[in-house]
Amino acid sequence: MRTIESLGDLRGKRVLVRSDFNVPLKDGVITDDGRIRAALPTLEKLVHAGARVVVMAHLGRPKGEVKPEFSLAPVAARLGELVDAPVTLAKDVTGPSAHEVVAALKDGEIALLENVRFDARETSKVDAEREALAKEYAELGDVFVSDGFGVVHRKQASVYDIAKILPSAAGLLVVKEIESLRRATDNPERPYAVVLGGSKVSDKLGVIANLLTKADMLLIGGGMVFTFLAAKGLNVGKSLLEEDQIDVVRGYIDEAAQRGVELVLPVDIIVAPEFSADAPATVVPADAIPADQMGLDIGPESQKLFAEKLATTKTVAWNGPMGVFEFPAFSGGTRAVAEALSKGSMFSVVGGGDSAAAVRLLGFDESTFSHISTGGGASLELLEGKVLPGIAVLED
Ligand code: ADP
Ligand code: MG
Repeated sequence: MRTIESLGDLRGKRVLVRSDFNVPLKDGVITDDGRIRAALPTLEKLVHAGARVVVMAHLGRPKGEVKPEFSLAPVAARLGELVDAPVTLAKDVTGPSAHEVVAALKDGEIALLENVRFDARETSKVDAEREALAKEYAELGDVFVSDGFGVVHRKQASVYDIAKILPSAAGLLVVKEIESLRRATDNPERPYAVVLGGSKVSDKLGVIANLLTKADMLLIGGGMVFTFLAAKGLNVGKSLLEEDQIDVVRGYIDEAAQRGVELVLPVDIIVAPEFSADAPATVVPADAIPADQMGLDIGPESQKLFAEKLATTKTVAWNGPMGVFEFPAFSGGTRAVAEALSKGSMFSVVGGGDSAAAVRLLGFDESTFSHISTGGGASLELLEGKVLPGIAVLED
């Protein structure tokens, strides 16, 4: 992958940067600025190099229309507080305001274009439409830096097409994400464990299929575990179950056995009669889930078992919470896995939007993990072993 160094001396040059500023907003206020912070190393590097930085980003899903509630104004304000440079927000994406703001940039200053998804061509499936918009972006910059990891799996004008027009390179965040996720999927230091959870097994089939060929150990929790238990002939009561995936999962169980991959399933489950925060919780053996109960977390014995297994590893890739961590009574499994990785000395990578959110919500120090991915869909696709268009276009 080409890095920023490959772009040469950037002093006085207009550097177009794609960042991921898709932050959660409540009543116009940013509730988590993690993505803005993750973008800072690249922006500051460019600012310090004397570049004139022009940032492209999206917010939410305005669906190709100019909708004020999706304006990047709150992002521009927050970025201005965090970054050591003046930040000016253009009133449009590639229109007169964008040109005016970019023309007025001095070395070491930052311009932010309005939400790129105000322009329907940004996400168009028609190549020519995206390419036309990318040409308009290219008028605003001399070189391109791709740093919006959360969007590199998208073939979009500000991610993919622009990189084909201008000299382009990966930013620091994208480099770090790719290096970490590759280290946790290709040639990992062994023993190598993959921990999978989350709601639906059907969302994660690609990840299981890819990592089953590489892992020494596969630990399963979360909602998807009940399809595994059902595939083993157990009753799962009212738990989340994807009946149409039972055969597929049985195939994975057989493949794990053939390949000598240790499949670690929970031995006990925390169940409740309904899906709610204050539902009365009880612990039952995994092979004795009552018909009128649903499993909402892995049980205390399983939490211990998972933590012990993880303590023996040198590399762990984790995607998907072990239970309904949003409810404190069912957050123990997720907490146990997070704690094992946080305390351990193994190389640990957390991928998946909800998994990363869980680590933060449960109060773990993010720096005690080797890497927490900023991209949900992009990290999943990397765990699946897919080629991401926004990355492929930056390879030599
Ligand atoms: P990620 O975003 O990390 O890839 P997912 O989106 O696949 O994770 O799944 C996250 C969701 O899975 C969480 O909202 C969590 O509440 C839910 N979940 C975990 N365990 C269960 C369970 N036993 N039953 C129902 N939902 C569950
Ligand atoms: Mg999710």
